[in-house]
Amino acid sequence: MSALLTIDGAGRAFGGVYAVRDVSMTVAEGETRAVIGPNGAGKSTLFNLISGHLVPDHGTIAYAPAGPGGARRVDRLPPHARARLGIAIVFQGARLFRGMTALENVMVGAHARTRHGMLSATLRLPAHRREEAAIRADALDALGRVGLRDWAHRSADVLPLGQQRSLQVARALCARPRLLLLDEPASGLRAAEREALARLVESLRAEGLTMMLVEHDVGFVARLADRVGVLDLGRLIAEGTPDEVRGDPAVVAAYLGK
Ligand code: ADP
Ligand code: MG
Repeated sequence: MSALLTIDGAGRAFGGVYAVRDVSMTVAEGETRAVIGPNGAGKSTLFNLISGHLVPDHGTIAYAPAGPGGARRVDRLPPHARARLGIAIVFQGARLFRGMTALENVMVGAHARTRHGMLSATLRLPAHRREEAAIRADALDALGRVGLRDWAHRSADVLPLGQQRSLQVARALCARPRLLLLDEPASGLRAAEREALARLVESLRAEGLTMMLVEHDVGFVARLADRVGVLDLGRLIAEGTPDEVRGDPAVVAAYLGK
């Protein structure tokens, strides 16, 4: 499989302290890649470097979806430009818009990739009505992909936490990503909700979507990920299949605090 994402020597410091340090990583098209590591290891920072919400101090990030356009460096592009190229992120602890339906929550995400944006949509300018209808169709489709079609017109406020997470995924899917970044999508979920989320990730994987996900539960990772990258103190200390990584002494040491 060809590389969809190539991170080369990426580094990012806050106040002189590196949150991500000299990380190089390649994610293949169609792969599900888990990123694990203790709290503060730099997992969210790495995802933000990929999505464009942070700019690296060092290194490069190249993105190469199949088809026209080809490989290009994205590490200097703003988030909306990367989103348009197909890189979507669900942030750790992402919040929904309160007082909106599930469908409206997804549509807000979709406006990120249109030319006119939310303002003209809100003003309902005539030229944008057709686009609005297309977004609505995409949003309903995304809700269907995550199993929330029946919730479309219900308030997002009343959704159980597990379904709120699925809704975040639907919002990201509505932008038609080629690379989906999920930062701790299963945190705080009950067992049945974790299972539903695992099934959702599996179904997206079966569709061929390339994903990166931060997750702590080793069983979850072993089930869902093709490969795992382990961060500790900003460095990539191990990489491999879930089995390879689990037996790695450096990984055991990082988790046990040395
Ligand atoms: P993880 O997601 O693995 O828990 P983070 O990437 O959130 O780790 O954080 C890595 C390190 O960078 C931590 O020490 C954290 O305090 C620091 N950090 C992250 N974001 C910022 C920020 N915006 N400003 C200052 N320090 C930050
Ligand atoms: Mg984090």
